[in-house]
Amino acid sequence: MDTPVKNHKVYNVALDEFNRRNKNSEKVRERFSRIIPEPYYHKHPFYVKSGKGCIIIDVDGNERIDYLNAWSVLILGHAHPKVVKLVRNEIENGATYRLPDIYEIELAEEISRRMSAAEMVEYATTGTEAVQIALRLARIHTRRKKIVMFDTSYHGVSDSVYFPGTFDWEKIGTEDPSGRLEEGRKYAILIPYNDLEIVEKVVKENKNEIAAIIVEPFLHIGAVPPKENFHKGIREITAKNDILMIFDEVLTGPRFRGGAHGLYNIKPDIVTLGKAVGGGYANFGAVAGSSEIMELFRKGKVLSMGTFRAHRMAMVAGLTTLKELTSPAYDHLNSTGRAIREGIQKAATEADIKVQVTGIGSFFNVFFIDQKVDNLKAERKADMGLRRLFDLLLWNRGVFIFPSHHSNVSLPVRDEHVKLTLKAVEQSLADMKPLIEELRPDLIL
Ligand code: PMP
Repeated sequence: MDTPVKNHKVYNVALDEFNRRNKNSEKVRERFSRIIPEPYYHKHPFYVKSGKGCIIIDVDGNERIDYLNAWSVLILGHAHPKVVKLVRNEIENGATYRLPDIYEIELAEEISRRMSAAEMVEYATTGTEAVQIALRLARIHTRRKKIVMFDTSYHGVSDSVYFPGTFDWEKIGTEDPSGRLEEGRKYAILIPYNDLEIVEKVVKENKNEIAAIIVEPFLHIGAVPPKENFHKGIREITAKNDILMIFDEVLTGPRFRGGAHGLYNIKPDIVTLGKAVGGGYANFGAVAGSSEIMELFRKGKVLSMGTFRAHRMAMVAGLTTLKELTSPAYDHLNSTGRAIREGIQKAATEADIKVQVTGIGSFFNVFFIDQKVDNLKAERKADMGLRRLFDLLLWNRGVFIFPSHHSNVSLPVRDEHVKLTLKAVEQSLADMKPLIEELRPDLIL
C-alpha cells in the first residue's frame, strides 16, 4: 500500500525545503536528463561533488552521512587515506596491462584466506558477470540446465536471472517487456525465499535437471535475515541431489569475516563476489569455489573473458580494503549496524508508529508496516509512500538513505554520527505522525 503523501502539507513543506537547499542539483538534473535517460526507478535525489569518510557533499554543499556507500562498495568510507595512498602510488605505474601482476595473486590469496569456500578465485568485471559465469560453471559441471532462484533476490541484470521489484517476472509469460530473451526464464525456477519445503518440492519435481540453486545470504531489498537453518537446509538438499549451491555474495562478501557463508557456517560450491572486494576505484567481480569446479576454467571449458577484468586499481584498492577489515573493524561495523537498527525501532515505538526495522550486521532497512517482513509478499505490503516521505525528511536533516532500499554503515561511522542519525529519525517520525494519524491510523500503535 502506498499512502499518497504527495498531496499532503507535511510532504510539500519538506519538498519545498529540499528544493530550496538543492538548487544546483536541480540544474544538474536538467542537464543530466537531457542526455542520460535515467529510469524512473533509479532517480537520484541529488548530485554529488565529493566524499570523505562517512560524509558525502553534494553540488550545493549539503553534507549528509552516507548510508548508501555506492551500494555497499565503500565499507571503509570515502577516500580512505590508505587506499588513496596505494592507488595513487600505483597509478604512476600505469593504468592496466591485462597481463597479470602481483596484486592479482595477492588479492586472490587474501580472499581465499578469508573465505572457506574460496579454494580458487577467477576474476570478472562486475557482479552481474560473476553470476553469469557461475551459472555457466554449474551447467558445465552438472550437464544440466535449470537454475533455482528466489523471488527476493538480485543477481544483476543478465537474461537468465530474476530482477525483483521493477519487472514482475512471475507474471511474464512468453513475452518479456524488459527486453530479455525468454530462454533465460525458461530454465529458471523461481520460488519464494525462506521456505525449505518448496525447495525440496521443486528439487523432487525436477529430478536430475537442476544445475544449481543460487541464493543470497538475506532478502535483498529488505536486508531481512533468513530463517534459521535455511542455508544449511539448502546445502543439505543440494549436496544430496548433486546440485551445486551458488552463494551470491556480491553484496555481502566482505561485510562479514569469512563472508556470509562463514556467518552461516556453510561451504557453498561457488561464491560470487563484487563491489567492496574491489575497493571502489574500478569495477570488480569474482567467482570463487572448490578447486574441482574452478579447474573447469583451466581446462578452457568456461567461456569467460573481459578487457577490464582484474583491473589493477581494483586489485590494489581491494587488497588494501580487505587488510583494513580486521576483527575489531568487523566488531565496530556490526555494533554500529545494531545501534542504528535498535535506535530506529525504539524511536518508532516511542512515537507510537508501527515500523519494522530489518537488517543484519552492518545492514539495515525500515518498513512502515504492521507485520513481520520475512518474504517478498510482506515486503510489498509495506507503505512506500510513507517511506518516501521518511527518506526526504532524513535527507533534509543530513542523513542519506537511498529511496526505498536497504542501507549500510561504513567503518568511519562513529557514535556522534549514530546520534545525529537517530535524532534525525526521531524528528522525522514526529513530523510524519499527524499525516500517519490522518491517512494510516492503522499504523499508529
Ligand atoms: N548480485 C548481488 C547480490 C548484488 O547485490 C549485485 C549488485 N547489487 C549484483 C549481483 C550485480 O553486481 P554488479 O552491479 O556489479 O553487476
